[in-house]
Amino acid sequence: MSKVRIGIIGYGNIGRGVEAAIKQNPDCEMAGVFTRRDPATVKITTEGGKVYPVSELAAHKDDIDVCIVCGGSATDLPKQTPEIAKMFNVVDSFDTHARIPEHFANVDAAAKESGHVGIISVGWDPGMFSLNRLYGNAILPEGKDYTFWGRGVSQGHSDAIRRVEGVQDARQYTVPVEAAVEAVRNGENPELTTRQKHTRECYVVAKEGADLKQIEHDIVTMPNYFADYDTTVHFISQEELDKNHKGIPHGGFVIRSGATGDGTNKHIIEYRLKLDSNPEFTSSILVAYARAAKRLADEGVSGCKTVFDIAPAYLSAMSGEEIRAHLL
Ligand code: NDP
Repeated sequence: MSKVRIGIIGYGNIGRGVEAAIKQNPDCEMAGVFTRRDPATVKITTEGGKVYPVSELAAHKDDIDVCIVCGGSATDLPKQTPEIAKMFNVVDSFDTHARIPEHFANVDAAAKESGHVGIISVGWDPGMFSLNRLYGNAILPEGKDYTFWGRGVSQGHSDAIRRVEGVQDARQYTVPVEAAVEAVRNGENPELTTRQKHTRECYVVAKEGADLKQIEHDIVTMPNYFADYDTTVHFISQEELDKNHKGIPHGGFVIRSGATGDGTNKHIIEYRLKLDSNPEFTSSILVAYARAAKRLADEGVSGCKTVFDIAPAYLSAMSGEEIRAHLL
């Protein structure tokens, strides 16, 4: 079978992760990195790999099977994914949950018109967590869903702290409340408020002479981001932040707690992720779904899909025969 030729659109954390993931999948190859920046300033790690201006993407129509669109969810992907779906099969990691229906409709219209496949919102949440919520709901219709995130870095919350006056740098960790996770695992089906599910830990480097009490106050009372949580603020040096808080770990749990029969037999389904690198893990999922996008396109399928629509066998590099022999 011919290799899946993947175009990497945008070279940030996810773009770099996709490049690394392709190297672990011998049936895939990188067809090039496409950036909005000056290609000369973008250094990639693949020997002999090429960086092109994204404006030249159309010229590579015959060299690429699937474009993995690696831009940010806030402003890049809503524009880039439907635009690129007019010419290519696309996969993205769009994660603004509330806007997924709108993004789906835009990618669907573009992909149907051009006869391509688009798979959106691929990753772990949305993505693998979504799949596990669906499996849990389908199998245990009488039950409750719980999703806990962390311990992990939230880029959005870290950025929000950096915008507070007097802050030089910051890292924010989302941490699940252990007692809440235990109560769920015990089948107690608790009703949990936002505050009872997660705490927020902030590591902050203050600018010289800044008012630390004021910074702490401004963080813990920040609406939407921190006010609804128990938040702790630790002031540390830039050296300490660089040394101990440089990674991008994340993870979490999806738990379905349900009962069958007359309700006395209880069941817990749990899916757990513990990730040293959120972007590298997310990118590994994106590459598996790029393989699926090519297979679907080869079968003549077109339009937008989510992880719910992709049969698991399409994700694997193994043949149906091999999967049945080794994994069933
Ligand atoms: P980044 O901010 O690292 O990269 C986004 C884009 O920024 C790049 O594609 C790049 O495009 C551009 N960029 C501009 N200047 C630079 C620079 N100096 N260095 C690097 N990139 C630059 O975002 P991430 O890759 O971390 O994340 C992308 C999206 O993935 C997030 O918005 C998030 O929503 C989503 N995500 C989804 C997950 C899921 O589970 N579904 C999990 C994790 C992330 P260009 O090369 O064209 O300039």
